Amino acid sequence: MSPDNKEYGRSGRTPEPDATWREVPIGGVLPWGGNAAEYETGDWRSMRPVYDPEVCIQCRLCWVYCPDSAVEVNEDGEVTGINYYHCKGCGICSAECPRDGAMEMEPEKAEE
Ligand code: SF4
Ligand code: SF4
Repeated sequence: MSPDNKEYGRSGRTPEPDATWREVPIGGVLPWGGNAAEYETGDWRSMRPVYDPEVCIQCRLCWVYCPDSAVEVNEDGEVTGINYYHCKGCGICSAECPRDGAMEMEPEKAEE
């Protein structure tokens, strides 16, 4: 849809598209599933969780709910920190954490 299409959002009708699906360039292809581990999803994070082991009670809710498996645990299953290469800053770990201060979201800083 071109930005100068005056019908868009005004006529109540669906305007004719400028191109068919055959003419739209291919944007990206995932050749196989389960390949998220190969990508640095942390590079578009604007907020980061900060883990404090002194406050953590090791309930592991953050580990259970993290959609990127970015909460790190040791061989005993204890939370040890965050993998910032994969953490995308969604804040779910912090929202699920029952302890104030154990997993707090902070604005991402510029390159250190
Ligand atoms: S902010 Fe989101 S991606 Fe990062 S550790 Fe928490 S739940 Fe996982
Ligand atoms: S949810 Fe909070 S208290 Fe529970 S393991 Fe994670 S950081 Fe620790």
